[in-house]
Amino acid sequence: MDDNQPTAAVLGGSVSGLAAATGLLRIEEFDRVTVYERQEYDDKRVDCGEAINDTTLIPLPKTPENGFVNDIDGFQIRVYDGTDRPLDAPPLAKSNVCCESGYICERPVVERRWAAELEARGVEFRTGRSVSPTDYADIVNSYDYVVDASGQPSLTLKANGNASEYTGDMVALNATVEGDFSAYRNRPRIFFEGYVGYAWAFPKSDGHANVGIGWAGDRRPADYFAALETAAERNAFPVPDRADVNIATIPRGPSLGPDRVCDPEAKVFLVGDAAGIANRYQGEGICQGIRSAYLLTELIADGNESAYPRKLYELMRSEYRLARLMRGAWVEHEDIDLLAAVTEALEGLTIDDVTRRPATVMRRVAGRPATALELISDAGMIRRVYESYTDSWEYTSRGGP
Ligand SMILES: Cc1cc2nc3c(=O)[nH]c(=O)nc-3n(C[C@H](O)[C@H](O)[C@H](O)COP(=O)(O)OP(=O)(O)OC[C@H]3O[C@@H](n4cnc5c(N)ncnc54)[C@H](O)[C@@H]3O)c2cc1C
Repeated sequence: MDDNQPTAAVLGGSVSGLAAATGLLRIEEFDRVTVYERQEYDDKRVDCGEAINDTTLIPLPKTPENGFVNDIDGFQIRVYDGTDRPLDAPPLAKSNVCCESGYICERPVVERRWAAELEARGVEFRTGRSVSPTDYADIVNSYDYVVDASGQPSLTLKANGNASEYTGDMVALNATVEGDFSAYRNRPRIFFEGYVGYAWAFPKSDGHANVGIGWAGDRRPADYFAALETAAERNAFPVPDRADVNIATIPRGPSLGPDRVCDPEAKVFLVGDAAGIANRYQGEGICQGIRSAYLLTELIADGNESAYPRKLYELMRSEYRLARLMRGAWVEHEDIDLLAAVTEALEGLTIDDVTRRPATVMRRVAGRPATALELISDAGMIRRVYESYTDSWEYTSRGGP
């Protein structure tokens, strides 16, 4: 080992950590990249809907053996008139959004194969043991770079006693169930039903699917499991066995200011859920985590890693902006007919459009002047537009969900 060659530790070997290791491997001068993962890949558990909307980000052939089990055309969003409805009640609105390289995956398999590929190329994996705050301090002292991809609350914030900064604004439950999903295998379903959040049924094959439900904000049911069960009945997917249900929170980003995503002196950088960048409207976080890791490693390659907080913010800004407006469309009005009209306006757009392109979404909604007018004729919504376009909601105490 050449003493002048930098070394890197990656804390957490899930999608963001694996992407970080991939990016670090591309930097020739790195001598040693070590991934610390508390789980073993053979029985790794993930709390996730397993929809990966841009699988081009993952450097593996898109085969079932690698966990890419269902190549989808996109998603069908269905809006219903609340949860108290006859089982055969038709949706108020349906809308199809597309994604070219999207898959419903067996995510533990994707991670296992990705890790194996990296190990074969020289990345060292230390699995099966949790990194403690003491280990964390040793690791920070021993490596030239530390990428914290430990999810939320991140090891860095735990070690610094700041874990409460995560808001855990969204809570979600999921499980894999067996049933007949052949009718919508290529177009997984998302069900909006009058609460801030949604249920989903994402087929992995004709015969099994990842199903779940999530809520955002403060108004949540008293019994999460019962709420998932009744959502399953209403939306005609099998009721999961409670023992199979995972429950987790999805962190909200604005609680983490730019100064919270890196410690330039210690050369510690946070990526993915550790940095709190999952989409705060719909909870998607895999591609966001991978993109943040690639961004960081490209900056390290250029010797420009101190720009990471600013560049990450630039990368995420349009997504933050759109999420704030989309959430506003719901929470400021709480009008299911309006949500149905907005949903219909999205027909045919791509996941990228509805996640990251506020101008495209606004143009679509503007094409329905009555809907646009209703949407904007609300003080809370006007405030959201102003804050979004002056970036004044981010990292300030004013920023709500
Ligand atoms: C129910 C639910 C459904 C979701 N569905 C989707 C979806 O369909 N599509 C999507 O894009 N996103 C989805 N998300 C969000 C997505 O799962 C996360 O954004 C994503 O997992 C973030 O990846 P990450 O690698 O940053 O963190 P994580 O996936 O949280 O990975 C962190 C890793 O660090 C390891 N680790 C943690 N602490 C330590 C420690 N002390 N020592 C060593 N290792 C440690 C963990 O074992 C884990 O492997 C969903 C989230 C939930 C809760």
